[in-house]
Amino acid sequence: MSDFLLIKNGTCLIGEEAEVQNCDILIGDGQVLEIGDSLSFPTFKMSSGQAVSTINATGMLVCPGFIQTHVHLCQTLFRGSADDLELLDWLRKRIWPLEAAHTPQSLTISALLAVAEMIKGGTTAALTMETVNHTEAVFEAVQRTGFRAFIGKCMMDVGDGVPEALKERTKESLDESLRLMKRWNNRESLVQFCFAPRFAVSCSHELLQEVARLALENSVLVHTHASENLREVELVLNRTGMRNVDYLHSVGLTGNHVALAHCVHLSEEEKQLLAATKTHVLHCPSSNLKLASGIAPVCDLLKRGVNVSLGADGAPCNNRLDIFTEMRLAALLQKVSNGSEALPAKVAFKMATIAGARTLGMEKQLGSIEVGKKADLVLIKLNKPHTTPASDVISTLVYSATASDVDTVIVNGRVLMQGRQLFSIDEEKVVNLAKSEFKQLCARVGL
Ligand SMILES: [Zn+2]
Repeated sequence: MSDFLLIKNGTCLIGEEAEVQNCDILIGDGQVLEIGDSLSFPTFKMSSGQAVSTINATGMLVCPGFIQTHVHLCQTLFRGSADDLELLDWLRKRIWPLEAAHTPQSLTISALLAVAEMIKGGTTAALTMETVNHTEAVFEAVQRTGFRAFIGKCMMDVGDGVPEALKERTKESLDESLRLMKRWNNRESLVQFCFAPRFAVSCSHELLQEVARLALENSVLVHTHASENLREVELVLNRTGMRNVDYLHSVGLTGNHVALAHCVHLSEEEKQLLAATKTHVLHCPSSNLKLASGIAPVCDLLKRGVNVSLGADGAPCNNRLDIFTEMRLAALLQKVSNGSEALPAKVAFKMATIAGARTLGMEKQLGSIEVGKKADLVLIKLNKPHTTPASDVISTLVYSATASDVDTVIVNGRVLMQGRQLFSIDEEKVVNLAKSEFKQLCARVGL
């Protein structure tokens, strides 16, 4: 039995082209049932016992839920613990030792903290990569929040400077991933499984080949990092004789079911390869700047027809999990070398919505407000000094609005936040537990 929700009098962004319409949206059974003027509850479809509620969206922008396609929920407790380092030092000196010290309890709190921050900032779905161990705890924690996520267990079976607790044998890594896949690979569920080999540097040829085979066989998404940093590209070149994306292609890890985070340093051939294979690129502008990785050739990739979506990456390399920051920065950064007309607000908005849905293989269900699509919606107050006058709402959303302007968040027809109050997560409790878990984590690492 489903509940009905009616959003009245909003300024709504409708369809893939996000056309501005003042209208009502009727939600039922987790989906958008109707879009139009003066809608009311469909009494003929209702049976007794079904709850109905109305949200007055007057003065608010109603837009599709934002989708972040590259996040590490497990790293949220490390926010502020790994500043001012470049990628490989950042991993070896801080992130890997901290990930190695995680317990199921600290991972649970880290994931809840991340999801709370993302919901409060209007993100309704994420593609994530967790750590090597205890990934089940993350699946279970996220499932309880009503948030939508594709979650991957990090796989790493080779590499220098990896702590003992993160070193896996190839078979162990595959077995644990398959075990999680069997439990969580349900297309109807809000929480789903993806394969997440960390990056070519810390994965054996055998592991990557096997992931490629299993992903195709089971129609599962693969989420990994590629060509983020020049030293990383050099390491892969020395080991394999190939550039990073060329190498991933050679093991079968390109295609419409493969999502590559970063892709900052690409050859002409690699760009062509990404376009030809329909491989998705996950752009993380804040992370690329903070780790001094470089500026990804996003305009060039978009011109070639590559699907590029957005993510905050992990809290220690950003240090926010905020899609508004990423949309704004994605647009601004491309203008540096491509001119002021490059990557306009509408393109940044699409990267944060429909392109994210495409990455997840869910463009028919997510990424825009349309009848029949899932009801993942965000209501944003645009009547504040910094968002006035909102004459062009997409421009206001991308260049002026901030995460704290988000008022209401709906995922799969369920209201997860209203009036900035979270309903599925006890915010105060999670913040306090995060502080104590962080202290204990530092004690275990000796930081
Ligand atoms: Zn990452």
